[in-house]
Amino acid sequence: MDQYLTRKRAAVLAHLSNKCRRCGFSDCRALQIDHIDGGGGKELRCTAQWTYLNRVLAESFRFQLLCANCNWIKRSEKSEAKYRNQNIGQKARNIGHAPEQSGIFPEQQTGNAG
Ligand SMILES: [Zn+2]
Repeated sequence: MDQYLTRKRAAVLAHLSNKCRRCGFSDCRALQIDHIDGGGGKELRCTAQWTYLNRVLAESFRFQLLCANCNWIKRSEKSEAKYRNQNIGQKARNIGHAPEQSGIFPEQQTGNAG
């Protein structure tokens, strides 16, 4: 990261109060800019870092600082919630099917019929 970018990032972190929104951790080496509504990774991949940092400054209500731990925990919570929702949808689709059609190992249920 070049010097200008480092300074810019420091300014952005200061703007976002220089600490993790969840736990208060304040070592800037492990602080990450997080999209409150998600989608940050995609936006970062599509945008030059300088432009991205300017956007964070201009639209700081959309962003928060999380430390690396809290960011991973948030990600994990989100993917677990997504997985749960998919499971609920799957169960709803399975209603009405015969139990043997939803077996985990259907090949073990064929027996010696032949
Ligand atoms: Zn944290």
